[in-house]
Amino acid sequence: MARSFDVVVIGGGPGGYVAALRAAQLGATTAIVEKDRMGGTCLVRGCIPTKALLQSSELYTQARDGAAFGVVADRIGFDWSAAQKRKTSVVDQLVKGVEGLLKAGGVTSFIGGARLAGRGVVDVGSEQLQAKDIVIATGSAIARIPLPGAELTIDSDQILELKDAPRRLAVIGGGVVGMEFAAMFAALGSKVTVLEMLPQVLSMVDADLVASYTKHFSKLGGEIHTDSKVSEVVKKNGGLQVRFSTGGEGGVVDADQVLLAVGRVPYTHGLDAEKAGVKLERGRVVVDDHLRTTADGVWAIGDVIGGIMLAHVASYEGVCAVENIAGHSNRVPDYHAAPNCIYTDPEIAHVGLGEKEARDKGIAVKVGKFPFAAAGRALTLGQTEGFVKVIADAESGKLLGAHIVGPRATDLIAEATLAIQNGLTLEQVDLTIHAHPTLPESFMEAALAAQGRAIHITNRRSAAPATPTTAPATNQNRESQMAAPVKPSTSTPPPVAPSTIDAKKLELTKQNRDFLLAMHREMQLIRRFEERAQEQYTKAKIGGYCHLNIGEEATVVGGILALKANDWIFTSYREHGHAIARGVDPKAVMAELFGKETGTSHGRGGSMHLVDYSRRFMGGYGIVGGHLPLAVGGAWAVKYQKHPDVVFCMFGDGATNIGAFHESLNMAKVFDLPVVWFCVNNRYGMGTPVEKASAVADIYKKACAYDMESIQIDGMNVREVMLRTSEIVEKTRQDSVPRFIESLCYRFRGHSVVDPDKYRSAEDKEKWRKSDPIVAFEHELEKSGLADEEYFKNVRQQVDAEVREAIEYADESPDPNVADLYKYTYAGEWADRPELRAERV
Ligand code: FAD
Repeated sequence: MARSFDVVVIGGGPGGYVAALRAAQLGATTAIVEKDRMGGTCLVRGCIPTKALLQSSELYTQARDGAAFGVVADRIGFDWSAAQKRKTSVVDQLVKGVEGLLKAGGVTSFIGGARLAGRGVVDVGSEQLQAKDIVIATGSAIARIPLPGAELTIDSDQILELKDAPRRLAVIGGGVVGMEFAAMFAALGSKVTVLEMLPQVLSMVDADLVASYTKHFSKLGGEIHTDSKVSEVVKKNGGLQVRFSTGGEGGVVDADQVLLAVGRVPYTHGLDAEKAGVKLERGRVVVDDHLRTTADGVWAIGDVIGGIMLAHVASYEGVCAVENIAGHSNRVPDYHAAPNCIYTDPEIAHVGLGEKEARDKGIAVKVGKFPFAAAGRALTLGQTEGFVKVIADAESGKLLGAHIVGPRATDLIAEATLAIQNGLTLEQVDLTIHAHPTLPESFMEAALAAQGRAIHITNRRSAAPATPTTAPATNQNRESQMAAPVKPSTSTPPPVAPSTIDAKKLELTKQNRDFLLAMHREMQLIRRFEERAQEQYTKAKIGGYCHLNIGEEATVVGGILALKANDWIFTSYREHGHAIARGVDPKAVMAELFGKETGTSHGRGGSMHLVDYSRRFMGGYGIVGGHLPLAVGGAWAVKYQKHPDVVFCMFGDGATNIGAFHESLNMAKVFDLPVVWFCVNNRYGMGTPVEKASAVADIYKKACAYDMESIQIDGMNVREVMLRTSEIVEKTRQDSVPRFIESLCYRFRGHSVVDPDKYRSAEDKEKWRKSDPIVAFEHELEKSGLADEEYFKNVRQQVDAEVREAIEYADESPDPNVADLYKYTYAGEWADRPELRAERV
């Protein structure tokens, strides 16, 4: 005989069991049918087992890094089978817990596959259940793709049951599931490679959060290939090989295990849904806004209806559905504050609108960002990576979205979710007392930052006024739209050169030690900056071109340090190192390369135009040699104003073959202008050797045509460059007569990142590599007892950290406001910032 219930729920996952419990609470006689184990995907194969294992990997990482916290252990290892055992016991305990709750709640449980067998009838094996209302909560299954070799891969169920952690793991699919397993195994020491077809892993997450996560992932040795399509998986050398292509170029990843994690699809197998009048659309059960299916008395919730496929959303829908069934309320699910959590390291969580999403919807927004590096609690935890970002309606201050990457982001998102769900404003958040020291304080600070009132970071002028001010129309260059404050600069300033430079001041003696070592550090910093900039370019974070000056550090540092603060520097484009040597903050340089608002030209110059008026650095013109006539103009102005300043114009050997070069030298000579022409001769104009491109290979001789004093110096020797440049510059300062320096150096890499540098022979490169200016200077310093290898190692670590910070800063910096893109033109900047017009520094 059929048993009758008010409500029968099919599926015991977080959607189904919560729905059943709530239905019983509302007085309905309720049954639940589950064909596997109560708890569903979430408890048995999803949320819970993965998080239990992730807890093990997190603890392992913390124990390994424990020494700094005073936790000293001799041998720290990872016991995979113990972690598995613990995971299983957590799962078992929770499954039992759900079974117990159902029993205690008066819900009758049936184990078996359910089938819709007619109006109000559910078959479970030989048993038949009658129901006034049926709730389908059958969840989802692992998605499969027709990939050759797919049978060699494992899925998210199988990876949870592995007997050992793989030494090399390839993950196909950079979604949440793939990235969580990638994070877990990378932390355990596996070599993990992720292959993602889209331009970004975790495509639903704001790019700045993903950047923060992927940085950590790559520190663990993890690799991510985006825009990469996998073609097949094959057996190779006793292991597996994944073959893929990125932008037409082929690649392979060797692995011991390959996880295929390409998503999940709604699951209705064996349910006979369509026979019962339940409409399916690409496999998902179609529901109306009250969660009713097309069949009378049949409702559906959770993963099986598609949409946001998360456990808490399934539970929420379960409650909505049964409250609608019971007539308790008239609930239409509202997803605007559905949080999304990703348990990577650091964790990522977000809720509400993304920054771009809000702007795309035409909403004027305020954005506030607070880095965990400035949060006391994060520091005590030793977990300072990441930040909290809030997005609010610019007019009402109502919170629209919150995005967190960092420690316990998945817990922190709860406060933001509550605020967004209830329509709270930034002010209501910051008026709430937040306990100290806690991580949620960062959420409050981000809300304050959006209003220009952050306490624990410097506020940008832009975000500042709490009370509206009427800005004058001409005030276009203020950072009025700049919303997100970024970390204050902690970059090390460049060395301070002696006020007069002579051979004695550059001798390798103890008295000169500080300055010499500072010069060496500056060269290292510039090199590391260039190397990392190149990497960032290949990750498409830098637009245009990224030109490289690796090998020219002695020429750049020695040349620029020979100048006085009031001298003017004109360089061509690409001169990142020149800017840094002149004292432009490396963070601002990197941010400019990234096209961010905090860059030297507010992100308008990109990789081509680095300008810092306050340092009299007029770098960056896109046309080769285009800046030489500008230097003439500058020198005219200096002479006209009778200032004792020199214009220092730096260019490559390629620029000396064009008309502008000759005209500029000619003008400078005819009018006796105070300009020093400084040719960085790295021996190749693009890919052409200088002797092939130029009738006169010794560039300095070209200046003779204009009866100009000119010298050739060893550009690989920083002390020589500085001394000889200073001599020439000071002469020009005295007599306002132009002069010419050719600094002979050698570029160790191709002209730009996209130049594979095939035109130079290996012998040629090897010969020059031996005179690497940094290595040569280190030998000198070491031989004279001023520094040793340990010291150099330390410097390398320091500059590496500094450059890393610059990248982080650039990553976290806001994009320019679209409405402001035509502001900050050079003339506008000049007109609007009186401080730049100050006569002399
Ligand atoms: P399910 O949990 O899939 O439950 C459906 C149940 O129905 C199953 O137990 C199935 O056996 C049963 N069933 C199916 N057909 C029948 C039938 N005909 N008769 C009887 N029973 C049937 N989500 C999060 O929110 N947070 C996370 O951290 C998270 N991590 C995840 C990690 C992994 C590896 C995976 C795979 C998923 C993860 N998810 C996470 C997603 C989450 O598990 C699902 O969104 C959630 O389980 C959906 O709940 P549900 O009740 O709709 O379906």
